Amino acid sequence: MPERVVVIGADAAGMSAAHQALREGRRRGRAVDVVVVERTQDTSYSACGLPYWVAGDVADDATLVARTAEQHRAAGIDLRMATVATAIDLDQRVVTVRPAADSGLAGPAQDGTETDLGFDSLVLATGARPKTPPWALTSDGSWVPGVRAVKTLDDGRAWLSLLDGQGSGAVRTNRAIRKAVVVGGGYIGIEMAEAFVRRGLSTTLVTIREVMGTLEPELGRLIHAGLEAAGVEVVCSGKADGLDVGDDGWVTGVRAGSRVIPGDVVALGLGAEPATELAAAAGLPLGAAGGLLPDPRQEVAPGVWGAGDCCESIARIGGYRIFVPLGTHANKQGRVAGTNLAGGNAVFEGVLGTAITRFVAGGQHIEIARTGPTLAQAQDADTGLGAEVVSLLTQSTTASGYMPQAHPIAVLVLADRATRRLLGVQLVGGPGTGKRIDTAASALWCQASVDDVAAMDLSYAPPFSPVWDPVQIACRRMADSLGR
Ligand SMILES: Cc1cc2nc3c(=O)[nH]c(=O)nc-3n(C[C@H](O)[C@H](O)[C@H](O)COP(=O)(O)OP(=O)(O)OC[C@H]3O[C@@H](n4cnc5c(N)ncnc54)[C@H](O)[C@@H]3O)c2cc1C
Repeated sequence: MPERVVVIGADAAGMSAAHQALREGRRRGRAVDVVVVERTQDTSYSACGLPYWVAGDVADDATLVARTAEQHRAAGIDLRMATVATAIDLDQRVVTVRPAADSGLAGPAQDGTETDLGFDSLVLATGARPKTPPWALTSDGSWVPGVRAVKTLDDGRAWLSLLDGQGSGAVRTNRAIRKAVVVGGGYIGIEMAEAFVRRGLSTTLVTIREVMGTLEPELGRLIHAGLEAAGVEVVCSGKADGLDVGDDGWVTGVRAGSRVIPGDVVALGLGAEPATELAAAAGLPLGAAGGLLPDPRQEVAPGVWGAGDCCESIARIGGYRIFVPLGTHANKQGRVAGTNLAGGNAVFEGVLGTAITRFVAGGQHIEIARTGPTLAQAQDADTGLGAEVVSLLTQSTTASGYMPQAHPIAVLVLADRATRRLLGVQLVGGPGTGKRIDTAASALWCQASVDDVAAMDLSYAPPFSPVWDPVQIACRRMADSLGR
């Protein structure tokens, strides 16, 4: 009898686990049957590409799909689309599934016959859902017309329908869309602001605090200034707490305290929360952020594995639990889970919090990246770092100052005063800034000191870098400031 692996969720984490389980099983001569259930009609798509689809860089939804359902099936996976898992019985080793009546945001499936799928191993890869305030939904749980998050391919289709009546989404309109409001100033908020400005919409971004709250405020202020230079109105002290709607129910504005910010469409970028109700109902423990708590082999209970956005990860620096819902981790964690459940031995080595985005619109080109804990995280006793953290902001250029490719770059370095260890790097600047974060992330990964980074043999030629790379200059200055 082959072992039965059931995977819940057929996107990045789930399909990585499914394919890896097959590969590892084959390698070890173990007969493994992999069944994947997916609530929606979409599999293995790049949510990361959605803002660029809305902006006009991507031809269609199919272009965002890395592997189709047919390709997964051809590889030997029993992939059951539009099938929702409704219960897990860990004692009986059974998942209950039924056809999904609704693939949207709200509400469980309402019809269809339930069947039980027995498993030897179970992978939970149910992902995360966008945080959605109650005011964004109507009383029947659907989106207020004109309002939407950005998470699924259905969201992308709906956005194209909202904006110009194209796409295959359910929401079609001939109304003129001139003003967009983005609620939330994080990665998705910035990316949607870029999309709206590039589409010629008058755009307002509303945040409670400074934009990009995962960076230090001095870097957030640089991004803020760049957004304003591109014509985006940035409302930085506003907690959006309601909507104004017209007689036809369509949104006309976002309320933030005493202000009403007019908008024909509203994009929500308020962060994500792990989709773990099913796991919780099965009795699996959850962490402070509501995510599953896998061990480094991604196991959450004997024979039960978790991967991707439904999980909290372990911070590589400090070892504390942290919720970082990113595709990079989902793919790696899925691979680790798939390897281990088929008898292999793999470990997920933790997260640094490395992330990158950009705002390129309205004559501005801003690249934004970070790695390592923020100042607050590094100083927080609960993170276990307890470091005496020093931070230093250095302004430099992305190429030799005399070259036309030279653009300003701001590099913020965090280091531990006692050990001189590099703790974090944050970057904001022009073209050529963003991917420099990988130098910093590599250094952090290897527990380098600021002196190590200052001494590294990095590349230089005038069109690419000053003779000292900007990350290196910042670390050298930090080393100097710490004394010898
Ligand atoms: C707009 C946007 C931009 C992003 N940009 C980046 C980026 O630039 N870089 C980066 O690293 N990451 C980015 N991400 C994050 C990245 O997309 C996610 O981390 C990744 O998709 C997580 O994959 P996952 O498989 O864990 O979860 P998901 O992609 O959420 O997939 C989970 C799947 O499980 C299914 N499911 C849930 N419950 C059930 C159930 N009970 N039964 C059946 N099926 C179920 C869901 O329908 C879903 O298809 C971005 C995300 C968004 C939304």
